[in-house]
Amino acid sequence: DLLDLSKIEAGKMTLHYTFFDIRRLLDEIRNVFSLRVTIKGIGYIEKLDKQFPAEIKFDEVRLRQILINLVGNAVKFTHHGEINIVVKCSNMVDNKENPSMRLEILVKDTGIGIPESSFRLIFESFRQHSQLDSRKYEGTGLGLAITKRLVEAMKGNISLKSNVGRGSTFKVVFPHVEYSEVNSNAITSPYMPEFKTERDNKTGAEGLNDRNHINAAEEKLDVHIFRNSDFSHLIRCFETELTDQWKLFEKKQPLREIQSFAQEIINQGKSFKIGFIQQYGEQLLATIEN
Ligand code: ADP
Repeated sequence: DLLDLSKIEAGKMTLHYTFFDIRRLLDEIRNVFSLRVTIKGIGYIEKLDKQFPAEIKFDEVRLRQILINLVGNAVKFTHHGEINIVVKCSNMVDNKENPSMRLEILVKDTGIGIPESSFRLIFESFRQHSQLDSRKYEGTGLGLAITKRLVEAMKGNISLKSNVGRGSTFKVVFPHVEYSEVNSNAITSPYMPEFKTERDNKTGAEGLNDRNHINAAEEKLDVHIFRNSDFSHLIRCFETELTDQWKLFEKKQPLREIQSFAQEIINQGKSFKIGFIQQYGEQLLATIEN
């Protein structure tokens, strides 16, 4: 973080704009935090605008860094309720040469919140707001400083709304982002999650002032809900049934049983949409077949 900050401040940071699919980035972020979210027992909800284009031209590495910082903080400072990640596009200018749009990302949580008097301070380097128990919430105080500088380097802005004890919403806006309706990487992975369309009535950061307003605006969003309880079921299945079976197989190596064991792993990977589990099962099956 420190190296990154000095680089940005020295004006040495280079940006690399390429076309990519934001859905893939959202999958990645979800995978990074899924375990922590499960352990904390909080909800994790993604909402993506229905008409979000196939690809945007942006610095993917830097956008990932911004999201990891914001979602990481949301997870860290939330003990009950849920995290909402809302991705919207608007002001679509569909000129043939280079179509552009406004990209807005909200990271909302129902966590401890931030007092208004600290809104400016927390974006400064090495600062955490003073009432915090620094042992409980370890950190360097660099994440938001870097996030703000990155957002601004990419001609965007970041703002914050928060109520102490109720939650925080970080909003990042990039007014002009080039987009494309063509998917440059047409081969999508077999385990890409399907985006369900669901009207979301009961969720939304509890108690935030703009709750109703946001819910109304989100009606046109595609919603992908990822439920924690599903993951605890998966973890239990791996820790008990599958581990017990594996212990038996290790000694005797019964091929037919290992085949159905591999199939079970593939099925679990598919139904929970976790690519590496599915791939592990497929590799095991291929080895047995060979
Ligand atoms: P770090 O998390 O490493 O301390 P950051 O720069 O990411 O540093 O955050 C600075 C401070 O801002 C945090 O220490 C915390 O006090 C506050 N903060 C950031 N995000 C949140 C959030 N979602 N909820 C409550 N407080 C937050």
